[in-house]
Amino acid sequence: MPVIVQKYGGTSVADGDRIQAVARRVVGAREEGYDVVVVVSAMGDTTDELLSLAQDITLVPEPRELDLLLTAGERIAMSLLSIAVNAMGSRAASYTGSQAGIITDTQHGRAKIVDIRPGRIRESLTDGNVVIVAGFQGVSTSADVTTLGRGGSDTTAVALAAALDADFCEIYTDVRGVYTADPRVEPSARLLLRISYEEMLELAASGAKVLQLRSVEYARRNGVRVHVRSSFDGEEGTWIEEVDSVEDALISGVALERNEAKITIVNVPDRPGAAAAVFKAIATEGISVDMIVQNVSHDGSTDLSFTIAKDDLPRLESFIGRVVKDVGAARSTADDRIAKISLVGAGMRSHPGVAADMFDAMASKGINIEMISTSSIRVSCVIRAEQADDAVRVVHERFELGARPDEEGSAKPSQVPG
Ligand code: ADP
Ligand code: ASP
Ligand code: MG
Repeated sequence: MPVIVQKYGGTSVADGDRIQAVARRVVGAREEGYDVVVVVSAMGDTTDELLSLAQDITLVPEPRELDLLLTAGERIAMSLLSIAVNAMGSRAASYTGSQAGIITDTQHGRAKIVDIRPGRIRESLTDGNVVIVAGFQGVSTSADVTTLGRGGSDTTAVALAAALDADFCEIYTDVRGVYTADPRVEPSARLLLRISYEEMLELAASGAKVLQLRSVEYARRNGVRVHVRSSFDGEEGTWIEEVDSVEDALISGVALERNEAKITIVNVPDRPGAAAAVFKAIATEGISVDMIVQNVSHDGSTDLSFTIAKDDLPRLESFIGRVVKDVGAARSTADDRIAKISLVGAGMRSHPGVAADMFDAMASKGINIEMISTSSIRVSCVIRAEQADDAVRVVHERFELGARPDEEGSAKPSQVPG
C-alpha cells in the first residue's frame, strides 16, 4: 500500500474536539487505501507552558532535563489521538520519537536527525495500524531524549516521509498554506499554489514559521514533496517542490522574524583576528549568529553588531563581558526590540533594483533600517520591532503581492482561527 505521512500542528490538536476531527481525517485516509503515518505536535500552547514552568525556576535550565520535559507535550497528543482513532473502530498505535527509531546527535534543544530506523513503524503498519508518532523528538546517539528545536514536528514528518519512501508529506496547519506574507499580519496576503525548495528555504530561514527550516532542508535533500494545507477544510494548499527556473516569480513573499536580538560590541580594535576571536568564542558556546555588520574604522577601532536568537541572549550575556575584555573592546550592548523583515524571490537574480524599491517603500513610512544583509534571492533589513507590521504591509503592497478581495486564495479570516 502507498504510504502517506500527515503532520498535525498544535492548533489542529488543541482540544478533544479537534483531536476527534483529526482522527476522522486519519481514518478517512486509511479507508482510501493508504498506510497512514501521523506525526503530532503538542496540544495548543503546551510547549510554551512547559517551557515557562521551567523558566519560572531558572532562566537557564539544564538542557537534558528541559528536553525530557518538553517531549511530554507530544506524548500527550500522540496517545490521545491514538485513543480517538481506536475508539472510532480503526486500529492505531502511538510511538515516541525514540520508539519510532528517530536517532539524533547529542545537541539538546536543537538536535539534528542523523538516522531513522523505521523497522518498528513498518511492522506496525503491516499489522494494520495507523501509526502515530510524537513529533519534535528523538533519542541521541548517547541514549538521551532530545528535541529538534521549535517547530521540529515538521522535520519529524519530512524525515519519516523520506525514510518510508512516502509519496509525499502533508503538513496540516491553521492556515491554508504558504502565503506571500503571514496572513495574520497582512490579511490580503495571497496563497501560493507552488513554491520552490530554494525560496521556501529562504522564507523559513527568515522567520516564516509555517515550516521549520530544517524540514525544508531535509525535503530538498531527499526530494520529498511537501503539501502544506489547512486541517480545518479539505482544500488544496501549497506544494513545495522543485520548480523550473523559467517559472520563477520576481518575488514570492515577505517574511518577518521577531525573535532575534542585536548585540553591538563598541570600540573593537581594528586589527586582524579581532572578529575571529569574537565569533569563535560565540560559536564555541553553540550560539548561531545571523547578520553581522562592522562599521568603518575610526581612530583604530570599529563597532561590531550582530544578531542572534532572542532565546540565546541570556547565555550570551553570561560570557560576552569576558570576550569584550579579551579583544580589548570598550563594552557591549544588547537590544531585543528589533525585528527583521525579508523579501524573497528567485526572480531577483535577474532584476536589479529590488532592494532599492524595498528600502524606498519603508522610507515612505518613516521606517529606519539598522542593518542589511542579502543573498542572491533575498534582501533582509533589521528595523525597530514596533514598526515590523507596518513594514510588512508597505513592502507587500509595493511589490503588489496581495490578492484581490474576490480572488481565490486570499486569506479569509474564517481560515485563520484566532
Ligand atoms: P503549527 O502549529 O501547525 O505547526 P505554526 O504556528 O508553527 O503552526 O505555523 C503556522 C503559522 O505560520 C500561521 O498561523 C501563520 O501565522 C504563520 N506564518 C508566518 N508566515 C507565513 C506565511 N508566509 N504563510 C503562511 N503562514 C505563515
Ligand atoms: N511542540 C513543538 C513546538 O511548539 C514542536 C512543534 O510544534 O513542531 O515548537
Ligand atoms: Mg509549526
